[in-house]
Amino acid sequence: MDFNRIITEWYRINKRDLPWRKTRNPYFIWVSEIILQQTRVEQGLSYYLRFVDTFPDVSALAKASEQQVLEVWKGLGYYSRARNMHFTAKQVIQEFNGVFPSSFQTLITLKGIGQYTAAAIASICSDEAEPVVDGNVVRVFSRIFGFESPVGSTKIFKGVREKSKSFITDTDPGTYNQAVMEFGALFCKPKNPECERCIFKNECYAFKNNLVDKLPLPKTDKPKRDRWLNYLVIVTSEGMVMHQRGIKDIWASLWEFPLLESDRLITVNELIEWSLNEELLPTEIEIVQFEKDFQHILTHQRIFARFFIALPKQEVILQASAKWTIIHKDSISDLPVSRLIDKFIADSSIID
Ligand code: SF4
Repeated sequence: MDFNRIITEWYRINKRDLPWRKTRNPYFIWVSEIILQQTRVEQGLSYYLRFVDTFPDVSALAKASEQQVLEVWKGLGYYSRARNMHFTAKQVIQEFNGVFPSSFQTLITLKGIGQYTAAAIASICSDEAEPVVDGNVVRVFSRIFGFESPVGSTKIFKGVREKSKSFITDTDPGTYNQAVMEFGALFCKPKNPECERCIFKNECYAFKNNLVDKLPLPKTDKPKRDRWLNYLVIVTSEGMVMHQRGIKDIWASLWEFPLLESDRLITVNELIEWSLNEELLPTEIEIVQFEKDFQHILTHQRIFARFFIALPKQEVILQASAKWTIIHKDSISDLPVSRLIDKFIADSSIID
């Protein structure tokens, strides 16, 4: 089967019209590829447009502060992607004279760029015959060619990469790579693939063997770790008490309210005891538990969160300390925060 020719012809007719498909500039391709990791095209598109509008080239990105980069990224999650991009932009200015590399061997040495992203950029921008292997490619190849190793295993990655390498050529390898991914996204979808009108129906291993809903084999997941976060939201006319998270845990460097992490969600009395120990509150204060708790799922963790709101009975002057910062209510929407904090702020209408 002339897989390359068939799938690239399909792509030319069926591909979606997306801004990063109109350029071979490695900076723009890099931005789009990083944004689209773990993000659907529909959601990623507006972020891509905002990102390249704010940072139109690698030099603009390198000159920005980390806070500015995180602000543009806000809501997209997986903030380490944004931090790595910022780091890489500065590296490109210092080590590559501001010219974004487009060869696989150089790209793979940059922070945040793995085999997939390096292959995507090199094939699209430099016509290097490097096959990409992402979730879409694994699904398409598992079904058509009958790979039966679990998703995420080294075996399936190597097998699919080798097979795809046998099809990719120096002639427009970027189109071939994008064609396989687009076919997986639009046609050979995880659920309800379009088998009846599929161009590979006669050759497809999964279709012929009634295995479409079995392939690819699911990955064997590690159990998620449970965590219980208890937040204290202190509201005064001056602002709200917040702090910036450290860099070695989830939501690195993002802002949040004072937090007590424990082995369960705690009561108001336990929260008061903790906040007095932390010298967070004057004694004259009323604390109420927010009407609902939150559950937030991350890749390897399940977060249970409870929010308590402290309303001083009389006006109190809160003192900022090395640990806590007082943020004026008007400025909170400019701070990069996790999706969990964002959701609480929206649900509680705490910032009018
Ligand atoms: S026949 Fe179905 S499972 Fe096979 S490639 Fe086509 S859409 Fe995918």
